[in-house]
Amino acid sequence: MKIESLEDIRKDLIVEKRVHIFNAGPAALPISVLKEVQEHFLNFRGSGMSITEISHRSTLFEEVINDAIDRTRRLLKLSNDYHVLFIQGGASLQFCMIPMNLALPGRPLTYINTGVWSTKAIREAQIQGKDVRVIPTSEDRDFSSLPTDFTADRQASYLHLTSNNTIRGTQWQHFPDGKGIPLISDMSSDFMSRPVDVKPFGLIYAGAQKNLGPSGIAMVIIREDMLKRVPGSLPTMLKYTTYRDNKSLFNTPPTFAIYIIALVLEWLEETIGGLKEMEKINKEKASLIYEVIDKSEIYQGIAEAKSRSIMNVTFRLPDKELEQGFLAEARKNGFEGLRGHRSVGGCRASLYNAVTIDSVKRLVAFMREFEEKS
Ligand SMILES: *Cc1c(COP(=O)(O)O)cnc(C)c1O
Repeated sequence: MKIESLEDIRKDLIVEKRVHIFNAGPAALPISVLKEVQEHFLNFRGSGMSITEISHRSTLFEEVINDAIDRTRRLLKLSNDYHVLFIQGGASLQFCMIPMNLALPGRPLTYINTGVWSTKAIREAQIQGKDVRVIPTSEDRDFSSLPTDFTADRQASYLHLTSNNTIRGTQWQHFPDGKGIPLISDMSSDFMSRPVDVKPFGLIYAGAQKNLGPSGIAMVIIREDMLKRVPGSLPTMLKYTTYRDNKSLFNTPPTFAIYIIALVLEWLEETIGGLKEMEKINKEKASLIYEVIDKSEIYQGIAEAKSRSIMNVTFRLPDKELEQGFLAEARKNGFEGLRGHRSVGGCRASLYNAVTIDSVKRLVAFMREFEEKS
């Protein structure tokens, strides 16, 4: 986008030659966090060493991981019976660890299938030969909406759902009633984007690279009673109890990633002011783009209005040529990451926590301008 005023020239984004990042994951991080990392990279807290060079068993690192855990507890208002764990392997390893650790003998595993990521989670449970019952949703309509009406099986070990469907752009606004059985949620793409009442959840997990930090690690919030289910026979690194018993430090964790997560959580707590504030900002960003889509002759929303996500806004243009033109022109103007997931096509603007209102306003102006010209 053209620089319109002196004020714009002062903007970090332009000084740093950065673009407006709408990537789906790995995704935008707060610029203040990136700068902090840069500034302290060679000498972390006066140690004369980089954070990447110090022991994971040092007091310095212990402070970092404890800070990340304490902030998570405060942000989500976790009671003492919840544990905050860091586990390598991203959200995808959780697809496998959940059935392995939390299936109860003789009781089925129930999964609500709302898209690509749920399907992958289901497959990992099936591979293990578990009794998996899938609650189908809108597969016949390309998963463009979420179910409003179904009954949970009271005999199930758990009910698994994906809180935000990153690829289709749908999101649960109210979680279903588990009828007393624990809910388990993949919150990878909307974790920490809004307040959540964690009580119905036995486990919440999120790959870090959407809203928390760098890729390769998942944050897992697990309730104490769920840990009683963990079979003793599992390999050490695949047992949740190993992570609880060793404060996520059984082996060397991705220390650099955890450090950045701690900084992102500090930003969320202190600069943004918590999850309520974050949700307000996120809703405003999403409504700016949905408003353009709803009034447009060329942009068509993919998700049904009642199931729309405030994190991933998906849309199409009437034909391939115009869509390619839009994506190319957007890129030329400094808007990165707007191509939809390869399995769906179309366009997607991912509006994670670190994406600023300013970036969204500029994108909206660009979308309007493109429509007028086309
Ligand atoms: C990105 C994403 C994943 C995959 O995360 P990995 O860390 O790559 O395993 C899983 N679920 C959802 C909802 C996602 O958005």
